[in-house]
Amino acid sequence: GPAPESNSEVKAWLQARSAGLGHYINGKFTTAEGELIEVSNPATEEVIGRVAKGNAGDVDAAVRAARAALPKWSAFSGHERAKYLYAIARHIQKRERFFSVLETMDNGKTIRETRDIDIPLVARHFYHHAGWAELVADEFPNHAPVGVCGQIIPWNFPLLMLAWKVAPALAAGNTVVIKPADLTPMTAFAFAELLSEIGLPPGVVNIVHGDGETGAAIAGHPDIDKVAFTGSTDVGRIIRRQIAGSGKKLSLELGGKSPFIVLEDADLDAAVEGVVDAVWFNQGEVCCAGSRILVQEGIAPRFFEKLKSRMATLRVGDPLDKTMDIGAVVSQKQLARIKGLLATGQVEGATLNLAPVDLPKRGAFCAPGFFTGTAPAHTVSQVEIFGPVATSLTFRTLDEAVSLANDTRYGLAASVWSENVNRAIELAARVKAGVVWINATNLFDAAAPFGGYRESGFGREGGRSGLLEYLTIPADRQGKTRTAP
Ligand code: NAD
Repeated sequence: GPAPESNSEVKAWLQARSAGLGHYINGKFTTAEGELIEVSNPATEEVIGRVAKGNAGDVDAAVRAARAALPKWSAFSGHERAKYLYAIARHIQKRERFFSVLETMDNGKTIRETRDIDIPLVARHFYHHAGWAELVADEFPNHAPVGVCGQIIPWNFPLLMLAWKVAPALAAGNTVVIKPADLTPMTAFAFAELLSEIGLPPGVVNIVHGDGETGAAIAGHPDIDKVAFTGSTDVGRIIRRQIAGSGKKLSLELGGKSPFIVLEDADLDAAVEGVVDAVWFNQGEVCCAGSRILVQEGIAPRFFEKLKSRMATLRVGDPLDKTMDIGAVVSQKQLARIKGLLATGQVEGATLNLAPVDLPKRGAFCAPGFFTGTAPAHTVSQVEIFGPVATSLTFRTLDEAVSLANDTRYGLAASVWSENVNRAIELAARVKAGVVWINATNLFDAAAPFGGYRESGFGREGGRSGLLEYLTIPADRQGKTRTAP
């Protein structure tokens, strides 16, 4: 795990940049001036930095740089682009500890998670897409890059979401203007330093910091060819309206309320561990969290008893302590939103079972838990809590399980637990979700497309389908086919 010296290395890195983080435009860092946004560590509530708030002028400069860099970058051979992607992946791996600690301090998620999941998956994503860069011309001979991509990402997996957006865009020969979430800009800033170190040509990746106004300026910029957004369903809807009729290509990764279905023949201990991953991983701040537990009636009491005992062993606290299971949620504001929904659930008549943990006195910590006695129409059964608390319902028949599972405006993910694989597969096929895991949950891989149905958005990230989001067939090649030799 991260040695203590990497904590002090990160503190020194932050200290050296305490005057403010600027944007990264055309291969250069701008001075952070004008309106700065304070960035804090939600676990300690200390201010760890200040970041510039990009205005329309900054966005325009970034788009112009990306446009200017496009002809050369897209004309590079796939192998040339791959060399840069490999270099990014290697450098991330070399500095894994640094990035893990920095991400933990900025977001509040545990070091165990950033070290074992976020940062390794970032490297994996760049390696995978280096492979695509090598293959893309042969695999898609009639396609061309889309052009300048405007990308807007959330705070729950800051560097991983950046990787999901940047890697396929570059592999396919596009250039990028990306905006990290204002709550978590740190690893994106360090990533820009890495790009400058490896000598990525100026303008290929531009990073503009800021809030929703900055994001709206990116989505609305007339010289952007594609918008890729991950975040809330509400903002996804705003962007969709904003760019309607503009001809821009769009992909949206939005919210979820994913069912976690436990059949009576499931291995209950394995399913309980599944809930730990599905609901309490990353403080529940996961778009595909298995936040609606559906349990077959006959085993429900036994399952909930087991779940309660396991929940009582979870450790919540200092995210830099590698024995912790759950860290801080991203901000006090997010914590207040979670608590508001927990209160609503109780007012509506559900029972809240919270883990008997002592929370640290300072910091945005939330005890893990789950509701019992919820009804499908309850607010907490329908609205994304985005915190470490699930709802639960029981069912008798498989038909009933399917109808409860699909009783949602979302359709991002699902997981099914059963020792009868045929039954599990049959059920999986009837659940409307972008991904269905069987006897597993929250598995991600760069080769597996991820994305939703309905209000969870459209478009896929990862693998072949993810790459195609960053390619287009130019008008003069439409209808023609050219077979590779
Ligand atoms: P958000 O959708 O407001 O923010 C996501 C990103 O969009 C940020 O970079 C933000 O600056 C930007 N943005 C905000 N308004 C914009 C606009 N009008 N135009 C362009 N960009 C804009 O999400 P949030 O406020 O951070 O979180 C609110 C809720 O969203 C959460 O409680 C959760 O339910 C959901 N959420 C979902 C995901 C996900 O991965 N699906 C991630 C984060 C949050």
